[in-house]
Amino acid sequence: MIQFPRPRELSNNMTDLMQKITSLAKRRGFIFPSSEIYGGFGSCYDFGPLGVEMKNNIKKAWWDEMTKTQKDIVGLDAAILMSPKVWQASGHLSAGFADKLVECKKCHKRFRLDEIKGKCPECGGELTKPRKFNLMMKTFIGSVEDKTSTSYLRAETCQGIYVNFENVLNSTRLKVPFGIAQIGKAFRNEITPGNFIYRTREFEQMEMQWFCQPKTADKFFDFWKKQRMKWYLNLGIKKENLRAREVAPKERAHYAKRQVDIEYKFPFGWQEIEGVHNRGDYDLSNHAKHSGQDLKYEGYFPYIIETSAGADRSFLTFLVDAYSEVKGGRTKTTEATKELEVLLKIHKALAPIKVAVLPLVRNKPQLVKKAKEVYQLLKTHFVTQYDELGSIGRRYRRQDEIGTMYAVTVDFDTLKKKDVTLRNRDTMKQERVKIDKLVECLKKQLLKTA
Ligand code: ATP
Repeated sequence: MIQFPRPRELSNNMTDLMQKITSLAKRRGFIFPSSEIYGGFGSCYDFGPLGVEMKNNIKKAWWDEMTKTQKDIVGLDAAILMSPKVWQASGHLSAGFADKLVECKKCHKRFRLDEIKGKCPECGGELTKPRKFNLMMKTFIGSVEDKTSTSYLRAETCQGIYVNFENVLNSTRLKVPFGIAQIGKAFRNEITPGNFIYRTREFEQMEMQWFCQPKTADKFFDFWKKQRMKWYLNLGIKKENLRAREVAPKERAHYAKRQVDIEYKFPFGWQEIEGVHNRGDYDLSNHAKHSGQDLKYEGYFPYIIETSAGADRSFLTFLVDAYSEVKGGRTKTTEATKELEVLLKIHKALAPIKVAVLPLVRNKPQLVKKAKEVYQLLKTHFVTQYDELGSIGRRYRRQDEIGTMYAVTVDFDTLKKKDVTLRNRDTMKQERVKIDKLVECLKKQLLKTA
């Protein structure tokens, strides 16, 4: 979908919240601006040590949902570079996949037509008449930069699925209806990227294409819409922050017969995080026409129901939804009481760090030695962090801020009784667990659904 309201005016509170989340993400190693030592680069971001863990967890949760929980869905990993003929057939090289823009005659900045009125918002200059700019990113294949070698970075992952429809059918024993799932990078030369990682020029999509008989398309559309809503809710997204919005015909993407946007209530307003589309036979019939191949199944073109989510947008959604502040301090240590404590109440399946190992104090060599042993034991099973710096209260808070599910404290009793304190992030309940039962106990707790 191209035209979408993008509220730019944020209230102070909301701007503040986004700023806090952005700064936490940078400070703790979730997300860094790309090429930062060179001043950053055009709304590109890098995922840091915690970010890559969390993003992998999101992608795994999606992949498992599609290929394990649901039925008759297989995976695919198609190339980013494809024949330019694919993009002619899909309609991406025509006006359908273009934003209407105006350019300032003075500073030459470009703006989406639906976002501004009158003069240039940057310098007050006069604007050109609206023109369409294609969002596909061009690149050159081979060593000669001429027209014959022009190709594109894919603007959506699903085209790799459509052009492999026959291959998948012929190499598996699947029959319509069935689905193909794919996670991968996509690129769009967005004119107004922004809101942190909400809209970027390089992003990752998690897309599932469901091939079905035309008469069953409505039924499957409703089914997938419900499943996708459930996925976010099961991973802890608050119900009041999620909605499914039926998109009116004039607002729909060029290929969509029906479209529901799954939207999240970000600090900057309700915004799309996933699209559920009935693409009809648009894709298979166009690829059949342009390639000359018979892409019919039992004499008809299957309809496609698509669920198209963004890994980066989901990341931002889970991060924003999990972020909470506790005034006055929840850990009740003397130094904490006056401070605002941040708790990232992220679902345990998505939390970047599952366990932290903390020696009670760091100036007792036996404690540190034991704690390091426990760390070695846990780190082969879970993403584990070892931390000995600062008071124990401060270390709990550092872990709460990044959403670590469990903290294991090694104290003097550990040396005598061979047990540790296991603290739960959300309840702050502490229990003693024997070291030789720790791995089993954590595995059980991490697998528990509640
Ligand atoms: P928008 O209107 O927000 O640009 P779209 O409707 O064009 O998005 P689709 O083509 O339906 O998006 O893409 C499906 C999903 O891919 C989106 O819901 C979003 O999660 C993700 N996505 C699309 N464009 C971007 C982008 N520029 N940055 C990050 N994620 C994106």
